Amino acid sequence: MTTAPTAQTAPTAQTAATAQTAPTAPAALRESAARLDGDDALAPLRERFLLPPGVIYLDGNSLGPLPAAVPPALADAVTRQWGTDLIGSWNGNGWWEAPLRVGDAIGALIGAAPGQTVAGDSTSVQLFTALSAAAALRPDRSLLVTDPGHFPTDRYLADAVARHRGLAVRRVPPDRLPRFLAAEGDRVAVVSYSPVDFRTGELYDMEALTRATHRAGALALWDLCHAAGALPLRLDALGVDLAVGCGYKFLSGGPGAPAYLYVARRHQASLETPLTGWNGHADPFGLGREYVPAPGISRARIGTPPVLSLLALEAALGAFDGVDLARVRAKSLSLTAFFLRCAEELLTPLGFTSVTPAEPDRRGSHVALRHPHARGLAHALAERRVIVDMRAPDLLRFGVNALYTTHHDLLAAALHLRDIVREGAYAPEPPAAGPVT
Ligand SMILES: *Cc1c(COP(=O)(O)O)cnc(C)c1O
Repeated sequence: MTTAPTAQTAPTAQTAATAQTAPTAPAALRESAARLDGDDALAPLRERFLLPPGVIYLDGNSLGPLPAAVPPALADAVTRQWGTDLIGSWNGNGWWEAPLRVGDAIGALIGAAPGQTVAGDSTSVQLFTALSAAAALRPDRSLLVTDPGHFPTDRYLADAVARHRGLAVRRVPPDRLPRFLAAEGDRVAVVSYSPVDFRTGELYDMEALTRATHRAGALALWDLCHAAGALPLRLDALGVDLAVGCGYKFLSGGPGAPAYLYVARRHQASLETPLTGWNGHADPFGLGREYVPAPGISRARIGTPPVLSLLALEAALGAFDGVDLARVRAKSLSLTAFFLRCAEELLTPLGFTSVTPAEPDRRGSHVALRHPHARGLAHALAERRVIVDMRAPDLLRFGVNALYTTHHDLLAAALHLRDIVREGAYAPEPPAAGPVT
C-alpha cells in the first residue's frame, strides 16, 4: 500500500496518483470513529442490507440500499405466487390486503395504530389525495399553507389542489407559522409541512407546529419522506390529521416503492377522496353503478395496487424488526454530530460551510455542506466510490442511516472530499443533473 496524503503534505503529483488509496486521518478522529463504532449496539443491523463492497453509501435518504430480505421475497412473489398460483394469489397469497397490511407495518414506524395507513401510489398522488381531502374537511376555509422551502412536488400539488378547489396558497416558513396563524388562522384549512428540510436537514418541532395549527382550527398534514424510519414519530399521540411519505428513502423499499397515506381514524368516515377508484369502493366486486366509499382507511385505495413493489417494500420493512427507533435516532445523531466534527476539522478550512443546525434537536438524518463546486465534487466522490448527492446550486448532502452507516464511513467520506479539493481533482464543468429527492 502506498502512502496517502496527510494533513501536513502539500498536494503533489504523487499524492494525486495515490488518491485511490485510503486517505490518512488525524489520529483523534480515527480513534473517535473506532470507539463510537465499537460501542454501537446497532452495528449488526448492517447485515440486513446488501451493500456493495468498497462503496460508502451516504445517499440512502434518496434511495435506500437493497435489504437482504428483498431478493428472496421478490423471487417468491414472481415465481411461486404469480408464476404458479396465478390469479388465486389475490386471496390465497394476500395480494388484495397488501396495501393495508403494508400500511400497518409502516404505521408501526410512524406512531400510527393499525387501520389508519394505506400503502400505494406515489407520494405525489398521496399528497393530492391528502390536500384535497383536508380542504373538503374544512369547506368553510379558503387557504392552504405550505412551506416555501418544501420539496417541489409538495409545493406544486398545493398549487394544483388550490386551483381545482378555488382556494389560495400561502407560503409560510415553519418558524413564522404562529405569527401567520395569529393573523389569518381562521381562514386556513390545512398546514402542509415536512418535519425535515430536504436541503438543509433542519428538523422542525412537529408537536409545536401541530398544536399551533389545531389552535387555529386547521388540519395538520405532514410529509414524512425524510423522517419515517430515521426517527421516532408519534402521529396518533400528536393528533396529526393526515400524513404521507415515500417507501424508498429510509424505508429502503426500492426504486419507486409505494408511498403511503395516514388518515387519523376520526376523519375517516367523512373523508372525501378526489380519486374515487374501484379499489376504494365499499363493494369493489359488486360492480355498482355509483361510487360508495369503503369504511375505514380502505376508501383511500384507488386502483389495482403494484403488488410486486408492495411485497418488496414489505420485505424491506423487516429490516426494522425488533429495532427501537429511539436507538436509531440516538445513533443517527451520533453519526451526524461526528460528521459535523469531521467537516469542521477537515473541510471548513477548504471553503465548506455547514447549513445543518448543530443543535441535536434541530437536526434530521442528513448533513448538508455548502460549496460552490458541489456538483463536480459529488461526481469526484462517486469516482472514489463515495456516494452522496447534491442539491442545486451548491449543497452536498450526506445522508446517514443508523441501520447501516458507520462513523468510519463518514470519516472516510470527509477525508476523500478533503483530498479531492486539495488536489483540485474534480471537474469544473458540472455533470448532468440527477433525480432530486
Ligand atoms: C422524496 C420526497 C417526495 C417524492 O415524491 P414522489 O412522488 O415519491 O416522487 C415528496 N416530498 C418530499 C418531502 C420528499 O422528500
